[in-house]
Amino acid sequence: MKVPMLDLVAEHAPYRGELLAAFERVLDSGRFVLGPEVEAFEREIATWIGAQHAIGVSNGSDALLLALQAVGVGPGDEVICPTYTFFATAGAVARLGAKPVFVDSAECCYNLRADQVVAKIGPKTKAIIAVHLFGQCADMDPILKAATKHGIPVIEDVAQALGAKDKGRQAGTMGTLGTFSFFPSKNLGTLGEGGLVTTRDSSLAEKIRKLRVHGAKQKYFHELVGGNFRLHEIQAAFLRVKLRHLHEALQKRRTAAARLVEELQSKWRATFPVDQCVCEGERHTLAQATPGAVLLPYACQKGVGEHTWNQFVIRVTGPGKREETRERLAQDGIQTEVYYPRAMHQQECFAQSKGGNFLSAETFCKETLALPLHCQLPSQR
Ligand SMILES: *Cc1c(COP(=O)(O)O)cnc(C)c1O
Repeated sequence: MKVPMLDLVAEHAPYRGELLAAFERVLDSGRFVLGPEVEAFEREIATWIGAQHAIGVSNGSDALLLALQAVGVGPGDEVICPTYTFFATAGAVARLGAKPVFVDSAECCYNLRADQVVAKIGPKTKAIIAVHLFGQCADMDPILKAATKHGIPVIEDVAQALGAKDKGRQAGTMGTLGTFSFFPSKNLGTLGEGGLVTTRDSSLAEKIRKLRVHGAKQKYFHELVGGNFRLHEIQAAFLRVKLRHLHEALQKRRTAAARLVEELQSKWRATFPVDQCVCEGERHTLAQATPGAVLLPYACQKGVGEHTWNQFVIRVTGPGKREETRERLAQDGIQTEVYYPRAMHQQECFAQSKGGNFLSAETFCKETLALPLHCQLPSQR
């Protein structure tokens, strides 16, 4: 038996008829970019999230680029972001000629640490990107408080966390802007590429709508230098179908994750990495676990209810132990993945940002392992 990380054919099977109908509707309309499907999708997802404005764009990486450009990030500026994230977060900063300033992450949830964000705010800081990693919100309050105090915009990278909440607030509604990805592996994935920017600020929304089409509100009259960041009609039509089933899909993920946590506790004697949430960094030394110990994916008070489990990521502590576990699972046909084998400050292209203490991130890169949400664990590891 093979258990893949992701089975998109199976995921789409229940909506096959609806997806085919969406395809036919777009085919017969003859409209393929920025038409009525994109407009309807923007309205529907804005309502779903509770955002004032939602702008459909080409992908999640471009959504970040647009958000940063909209708040004026450019050469010489600094943008604070986690080092333990997907490349696009830091890549978008560098694409605008600005410098990513990295912060370490917390053991309770793998999210960026607010105390380090606060410590690294300086005269060149132009924005903060808070990533909601693996489907769980970063602890937003201390970050928002510091940002407000210094008048710095906060961009939430919600690529992995559509539908997640922090203290009842939807991801993508807390910061100045929220950026989303509809890459097929995300919880709302389209049949290709897509992205979204949310904001409550009307002027930022209008600026992003312009930047999406080469900076022109009126065709051929360019007020800004933007790019081609358009969302396709066909992808918007597919997204509208899948959005209707999103609440149910997230509920299923939560049930599966709770079952997997129980299995890890009973079969592998997994424990929580820390007793309490350490996002704010009061106890920021990495807990010393016995080598080979398996650590569960969260310990934040926020708990599983508001997590969307885009990835179910455990830690297997001690040198080489993760690789042993991976191999053992592979023998049983269970596919696993490593998010991420290297942090941003360790990347060749960010070599100029070497230095700094990123003990947690570096440890995560050696110890984390993503499991398929629907796997049945073997009793021996
Ligand atoms: C996937 C992802 C992105 C980029 O989204 P794309 O649609 O693939 O460009 C950005 N940030 C994070 C955290 C992601 O996981």
